Amino acid sequence: MENKKSIPPIEVVEKMSREERQKYLDGRLKDLVAYACERAPATKARFDKAGISPSAVSGIKDLENLPILRKDELIELYKANPPFGGLVTVPMSDLKRVYVSPGPIYDPHHESETFWRRQVQLVKAVGFRKGDVVVNTWMYNLVPAGLMIDETLIRAGVTVIPMGVGNTELQVEVLVKLKATGFYGTTSFFMNIINKAEEMGYDVRKDFNLRLAIIGGEMGGGPIRQLVEEKYGIATGDAYGTADVGMIAYDCSAKNGMHISEDVIVEIISYETGKQVGPGEVGEVVVTPIDETYPLIRFGTGDLAGWIDEPCPCGRTALRITRLMGRVGDAVRTRGMFIHPRQLQPALAEFSQIAQYQAVVTRPGHRDELTLKVELKSEEGVDKEKLTEQLIKAVTGAVRIKLDRVEFVAKGVIPELHKLIIDERVY
Ligand SMILES: [Zn+2]
Repeated sequence: MENKKSIPPIEVVEKMSREERQKYLDGRLKDLVAYACERAPATKARFDKAGISPSAVSGIKDLENLPILRKDELIELYKANPPFGGLVTVPMSDLKRVYVSPGPIYDPHHESETFWRRQVQLVKAVGFRKGDVVVNTWMYNLVPAGLMIDETLIRAGVTVIPMGVGNTELQVEVLVKLKATGFYGTTSFFMNIINKAEEMGYDVRKDFNLRLAIIGGEMGGGPIRQLVEEKYGIATGDAYGTADVGMIAYDCSAKNGMHISEDVIVEIISYETGKQVGPGEVGEVVVTPIDETYPLIRFGTGDLAGWIDEPCPCGRTALRITRLMGRVGDAVRTRGMFIHPRQLQPALAEFSQIAQYQAVVTRPGHRDELTLKVELKSEEGVDKEKLTEQLIKAVTGAVRIKLDRVEFVAKGVIPELHKLIIDERVY
């Protein structure tokens, strides 16, 4: 981009005050929008369709006027205008690799300076540094994950062992023989390796040299990470990103929410109003990475999170979001209101006599009905009438829609792995 000289080094951006950062990101966004609309016809078409002149975007607040780019629309763009859907700003010959993600979406691997500096900043912030030997178990073929993380680690000065997925036994041997200090992969695969190592007779604490594992990519890994830290003495970090935009946010040592990566603009959008929300509300994570080669403006991740307002004890000034709280698709619109698992969970957590539950939305006539199916741990000593009353009060308060009835069901009726809210309406 033309104003490269004016971009401050990442070390400076990391310590900016909130006001400075806002100003910096607003400026970067303005340049990015102008550049993308000039070079990426699909982006220009999105602005035209919304009736917005690119020059009318002077900051993050102005993004609200542009409809969110959804994954299925992205796929449609790729189908309609191969190879890159009119979204990439450089010719094929300027790309280093092209990844084939599901869709199919052809993700470009390129040299955009701000893209790589944010990737590197993230792995350094989580804790990898020169001298580390890191086993990377993300998939190396087709999709971006493996090679993108590989290149990021190399740029951060780390020695990489490109293991990819599978070969659990070999992974154990390599971790032991090469005295790897770091691991990067999914939580479940990391646990497979740990279990295999124990099966092979290794003592993970003594025989492994691991000090840090960046494990994540899955919901609900918290208890496992705690186990890894306490039982095996290996620090863990989490990083949040998507194949489409790369890294978005990361854990710091405070482990209380994730900092937004530098050079990434995140909005959290209310699924009720479609507007940007402030702290205390939950909404969809919508991302605009400052990436001149592949500028996806307002990409909807479908993930739900909220802002954390307090300064972080680690000293970084980058804003933080909560851990991911589910997917947008998990919310069910009922009587004009969205109800989401995150609303039900805290309300029902207090009822220790309940083994499992599931909210079901039906439409027997012209009104949506909300039923809570409940499986008790034991029927003994449970006053169902009283419990029903308490549940109706708690759920109605939590979801702001009247719970019509509670239905006690036998063991097995609600499957072990189930959605907390299901939509059984027939129109
Ligand atoms: Zn922090």
